[in-house]
Amino acid sequence: MNQQKQKTILSGMRPTGKLHIGHWTGALENWVALQEEYNNYHLVADYHALTTDLDTSALHTHTIDMVIDWIAGGIDPMKSPIFRQSKIKEHTELHLIFSMLITKSRLERNPSIKEQVRDLEIENITYGHLGYPVLQAADILLYRGDVVPVGEDQLSHVEITREIARRFNSTWGEVFPEPQPKLTRFARLPGLDGKDRKMSKSMGNALLMSDDPETVGQKLRKAPTDVQKVRRNDPGRPDVCLIFTYHQKFNPGAVEDVRAGCESGALGCVECKQRCGTAINAFLAPHIEKRRRYEEEPKLVEDILHDGEARARATAQETMAAVRDAMKLG
Ligand code: SF4
Repeated sequence: MNQQKQKTILSGMRPTGKLHIGHWTGALENWVALQEEYNNYHLVADYHALTTDLDTSALHTHTIDMVIDWIAGGIDPMKSPIFRQSKIKEHTELHLIFSMLITKSRLERNPSIKEQVRDLEIENITYGHLGYPVLQAADILLYRGDVVPVGEDQLSHVEITREIARRFNSTWGEVFPEPQPKLTRFARLPGLDGKDRKMSKSMGNALLMSDDPETVGQKLRKAPTDVQKVRRNDPGRPDVCLIFTYHQKFNPGAVEDVRAGCESGALGCVECKQRCGTAINAFLAPHIEKRRRYEEEPKLVEDILHDGEARARATAQETMAAVRDAMKLG
């Protein structure tokens, strides 16, 4: 039978616990949509978490909470292995080899490092933090990823991965593909504080995928809206209002109606937020229901991780055999 090989995608997140709706729009929705078309690997990037935080006490709990949200959100672990980076030793081995293929100055020019350390002197950044795009290259290329789903802020990392793949291939022979970035459609969802920054739990402006309807309502009630719409009947500007952005994402069928009502002054912010909350809660209800099953039986999640790790390890070992062979190591 003439079966065309499916392209491979590696995608991952640091284990930060329960996900928020910004994770959904920025990554998870895309991962779920890509499952049929690609051969996917889903990485819990627990080593990456160490680049900025050495406190590992909650790492396991955060991993389980995040993986439950992945599965409840629609990732099928039977099709796409879900695994912890730290359980596959080959990540560290390939990272070490790749660290010989890139200069310190190239890593210092990486725009996202510049952004992350803007309040620090570059001299104070750790070796591991500076080199985290190299670990990311190892994550992707260990599974010979052809495609990397990313937001625009991660494009520079994919470029570093491509450079490393080229350098390896030209030095020791063709082992790795040069992965292509795949930009997400709706990358950033603004946080509930309306400060034009993305949603983030650490900034306290997040609406979790596991928030119950009452919590969703409370959080939306406190959210700022267009400052020019002071009274209910004042005309508003939906394009500067984060609630309108949420309508666009979670209540698309009502967007024109909300726009018209807001601009004419017929729709007040209280009612608009209630409608938005109803739509978000309808979206979250099946997610919360599915989540409950795994919360009640956490062993199911452990089993999924162990199974994903066995499958990921087999691929990683195959790649490392090809790497050692090309390099004539051992
Ligand atoms: S009516 Fe809705 S879209 Fe308009 S400012 Fe108020 S909350 Fe925002």
